[in-house]
Amino acid sequence: MPLKKIYLDNSASTRVDDEVVNAMLPYFTEEFGNASSTHQFGQQAKQAIETARGQVAALLNASPTEITFLSGGTESDNLAIKGIAEAHSDKGKHIITSQIEHPAVLASCAHLEQQGWRVTYLPVYREGVVRIEDVRAALTDETVLITVMHVNNELGTIQPLSEIGALVKERREAGQRHLHLHSDAVQSVGKIPVDVKELGVDLLTMTAHKLHGPKGIGVLYVRKGVRLTSQMHGGHHERDRRAGTESVPLIVGIGKACELARLHLDERMERARELRDYLEQELFKRITDISRNGDPARRIPNIANLNFDFVEGEGLQISLDLKGIAVSTGSACSSGSHEPSHVLMAIGLPRDNGYGSLRFSFGKDNTREDVDYLLETLPVVVEKLRKLSPRLRQKQAAA
Ligand SMILES: *Cc1c(COP(=O)(O)O)cnc(C)c1O
Repeated sequence: MPLKKIYLDNSASTRVDDEVVNAMLPYFTEEFGNASSTHQFGQQAKQAIETARGQVAALLNASPTEITFLSGGTESDNLAIKGIAEAHSDKGKHIITSQIEHPAVLASCAHLEQQGWRVTYLPVYREGVVRIEDVRAALTDETVLITVMHVNNELGTIQPLSEIGALVKERREAGQRHLHLHSDAVQSVGKIPVDVKELGVDLLTMTAHKLHGPKGIGVLYVRKGVRLTSQMHGGHHERDRRAGTESVPLIVGIGKACELARLHLDERMERARELRDYLEQELFKRITDISRNGDPARRIPNIANLNFDFVEGEGLQISLDLKGIAVSTGSACSSGSHEPSHVLMAIGLPRDNGYGSLRFSFGKDNTREDVDYLLETLPVVVEKLRKLSPRLRQKQAAA
């Protein structure tokens, strides 16, 4: 029997939707024009880009002119943070962020620290959620930027972004006009409703490959009137925000992926929640000494992050991989490094436990059969690995 292949790592990347691929294909061949050219080939490319811009804007409740295309989530985070910092450094050099941001945010902040900026890294407690009173306490007159992710990629926890947005608005109305709010919303767009106006953000980051679109294309939403310094020097593309010939096929792809995400958001949410809850419910019945990481009441529907006592996450992940099941320990960005993830450390898991965590993340193509196969496989794997655990033997000897 051929090995089953079950993908439960949709927070790392997703399969590109066939409809998205089909929408992109003509733009590699017949419609290959440069969108800056004034002839018909160019104008058709430009037209396709503007259609996509409208599709992205509709998903975020933004206007098309507020959408900048660039190479992905990482570039978008970099442009938002360094672009705001550079444009407003005369007003102050303080940034507020959280301890559980993506490396693209943390490394951009670290880079600015080297240039003399002060950065506050907010704690997230056991729940994996930032507290609004901590944001309020960290704010100073010199704060130029708050950058807090909408949803954490490892835990799935939803951060109190609209509360932070309201606080920023309050401060701005009181005269602190240089205060900006950016959010990395890579894990929330297409998973839960994301409305830039409701959230009160000035800048928002998203990427296509986490919502069944292609890799190498992302967006920075920049609210009308916000001034930021471009980080790429060249031609006048993307309203001078991001130089470089536009990748028309990828832009068409992100547009289509956003359109499909908007049309199918409710059903995708419901389906993911059903599968995720079924998985958790059954695992809690079948395996002892497991617990959830992150506040279960404040998380997106498609992620479960579970802690397995007396086993190492790496061992679990490899054993599952051998059975054809793809899951993740911590995040893809930190796995392989053998360091426990900074997110699990931030929620206060002891170092040992940090190794025993798995993230299961669902996408639109997962089925109940996928979960059933996992439910057959995982308890056996856990039991086998636990037999080798010296810590479990100690505990049993003591009992
Ligand atoms: C995947 C991810 C990114 C990076 O996006 P790329 O398009 O892969 O560069 C940024 N932030 C979060 C939260 C992510 O999950």
